[in-house]
Order: sequence, then C-alpha cells, then structure tokens
Amino acid sequence: MTGRWYRDPDDDVVSDPPAVGRGPEHRVAAVTLAALLLLGALMGTATLFVDGVLRPGTKRWVYAVTMGALVVMAACLVVRQRAGPRHMFGLVLLGDLIYVVIVLSIEDPVRYATPLMLLFPAFVAAWFLGPWQLVANMVATTVACLVALWPSYDNAVGLGVQVGVSAGMLNACALGIFLLRRRVQRLLVATQNLTRLDPLTGLYNRRFLVEQAPRLWRQARRDGTRLTALVLDLDHFKRLNDAHGHAAGDAVLQAVAASLTAAVRPPDIVARTGGEELVVLGLVGDPDEATHLAERLRCAVAGSRTAHGHAVTASIGIALARPVDGEDPTDALWRLVDRADAAMYAAKQQGRDRVVALSVPPARTPLPEEVPGVADPTGSGVA
Ligand code: GH3
Ligand code: MG
Ligand code: MG
Repeated sequence: MTGRWYRDPDDDVVSDPPAVGRGPEHRVAAVTLAALLLLGALMGTATLFVDGVLRPGTKRWVYAVTMGALVVMAACLVVRQRAGPRHMFGLVLLGDLIYVVIVLSIEDPVRYATPLMLLFPAFVAAWFLGPWQLVANMVATTVACLVALWPSYDNAVGLGVQVGVSAGMLNACALGIFLLRRRVQRLLVATQNLTRLDPLTGLYNRRFLVEQAPRLWRQARRDGTRLTALVLDLDHFKRLNDAHGHAAGDAVLQAVAASLTAAVRPPDIVARTGGEELVVLGLVGDPDEATHLAERLRCAVAGSRTAHGHAVTASIGIALARPVDGEDPTDALWRLVDRADAAMYAAKQQGRDRVVALSVPPARTPLPEEVPGVADPTGSGVA
C-alpha cells in the first residue's frame, strides 16, 4: 500500500457513493432514513381514517399493506443499522412504487399526494447512489409524476407541461445534490490525501504510518505473522545535494520513491518519515522474507535514476516483532522502527549500500549487536 495508489484529487472519478455502510456516521444515516420512512408511513396511515380521501372501491388493505411495507423497511434499517448500495437502490425504487400505489388509491392525487412526495426517494438517490442508479430514479420519478397527474388533466399538452415542471424540478434538485455531493467527496479525498501523503514523493507520511499501526497489529495477531519495519536512509545524500543542487536531490527522492513503490508487495506501507529517510512496514512469515524484501528494495534504490542520470544508494535496517496482547500498537510501532533505525546505522558503519538485521532485540543497551550484510539468517533477532 503506497501513497501513489491514492486517487488524484483532480481525477474525475470520485470514491464509491456514501452508501449507508458501517461506522457511526452510517448508523446515523440509516436511523435517519428509517425515521423518515416511519414518518411517511404514519402520515399515510392517517389517510385511512379520513373520509373521502381514498377512492371508492379501493382495497383499503392494499393501501394498509403499502404503509406496512414502509414500517418494515424502517425496522430493517434500524435493526441492520446499515444498507449497501444495492439495498439503497431497491429502497429508492420501492419509494417510487409506494408513491404510485398511494396515487392510484386516493381520490385526488394533486391534493392529497403531490409529486413533492417523490423528493424523499430523489434526495436519497442523489446522496447515496451512483450516476446510473440516479438516472434510473429520474426516469422512475418522471413516470410516477405522469401517473399522479394523469387524472387531473384532460389535454395532453397541459399534462405534459405539468409532468415536465414537476419531474423537472425534482430531477433538477436531485442532480444538483448529486453534483454537490461529488464535489464534496472530491474535496474530502483531496484533504485526506494532503494529511496522509508526502507532497514531494507521493509516499505516505509519518501520520499515516501511525494511523495504520493498530490495523497491522490486529492483522498480525489474527494471522499469526510477524511485523517487519525496514528503515532506509539514502547514502551521502548531502553530497549529492551539494554537488548537483537541491532540485537534483528532490528528483532523486522522487525516483527512489517510484522505484520503492514498484518493488514493495501490495499490502506493504511505504512512508517518508524524514528528509531522506523512509520506512517500509509490512507483515512477514519469517526473517528470511524480511531480508529478501530489504534486498529487493536496496537493489531498487540503487537501480533508480533521474532524468539527468543521478543515482543514490541506501542503507537498510531490518527489525521484526511479534505482536503481543495488551501492547499499544503505536508504542510498539516506534519501538520496532527504533530497532530498525539502529540496524540502519550499523549498515552505515559497515560501509553503506547494504542490509543489516538486528541479531538481538536491543532492549536498553546503547549499541545492539549487528550482523552485517544479508544478516541474521537464523532469525534470532526477532522478537
Ligand atoms: P549518510 O550516508 O550518513 O546518511 O549521509 P547523508 O549525507 O545522507 O546524511 P546527512 O544526514 O548528513 O544529510 C542528509 C541530507 O538530506 C541533508 C539534507 O540537505 C538532505 N535533505 C533532507 N531532506 C531533503 C529534501 O527534501 N530534498 C533534498 N534535496 N534534500 C534533502
Ligand atoms: Mg538521514
Ligand atoms: Mg542519509
């Protein structure tokens, strides 16, 4: 998982529609929708007790069952506390259908069931659904308006104009909300990216690394795997800056970031934690896997070139940990990174452009023992 995988804020495509999925905000949306459905059902049920509203001969039980369907839908939302996009689409179309049933059941739809009632499914579609589902609901809205207004007009032109005005206003509102929602989503994605990504390299930043720690620790506990932190520090980077300028240094950082992004495994997190210091965090089955990954990254850095042919090498320190119950993932993350950092300094001392793994957990000793090169084949250094 690298920052480069994030969606470009200027990209026309925005993230999935905010279907009423999991999480507290989704629960609020699901319960709000349920409350609106219940309100509609109560208002519709009141009609059953008002004389002259329902058409003579209308089967009252069909109408009552329709209102009951609203209550059942509300209850389902409250119990599940979430709804996927397909459920939402079904809910919206059912809302249109229920409106048509009401219209066919009552005496004067213009008076007792104005097309304004379709605002509810239209708003829900605009806020929760994708573009094609929204278009489908726009068509359904127009048909429902036609059914509702048909009995009140005896000429086609008058009917056409009224259907056009009612459906046009409803659909224009829905479209406006839909476009506004996409704009807000795009801004949110852009803001989220700004807080998680390093602007120069497009890699994740320190904040994102910390954010991901609990998830990674949970996953390692669940899968019984180990976590590895690789700390990469570019070698003699100051010299490169001094010789070719900071712009050349920046280009090297970008080339290195691109090479690392291509070299890591998809779930690994690559973050720029300091000037020319990078951290790769991932799950591994054994120390050999971490060592192979580090070697691959070292070669990727050494092989990266800028457009002007500038290149650099990296010293890489490896540390591994097995998560234990009760530890704080953020503290554990920094302990792990500190150990990898100590190994990286050992790599510097041993000549740079190499991988070093800690052979023993450093505890509180000032200088941990290190094994040079592709080190620690026994994995004794892992916690
Ligand atoms: P070593 O091999 O011991 O790591 O040597 P070094 O020169 O890489 O280490 P040192 O810590 O002395 O210098 C790091 C340099 O990285 C100093 C700083 O100018 C440069 N640097 C830090 N951030 C950036 C950046 O964003 N762009 C550029 N161009 N240079 C940066
Ligand atoms: Mg450094
Ligand atoms: Mg350096």
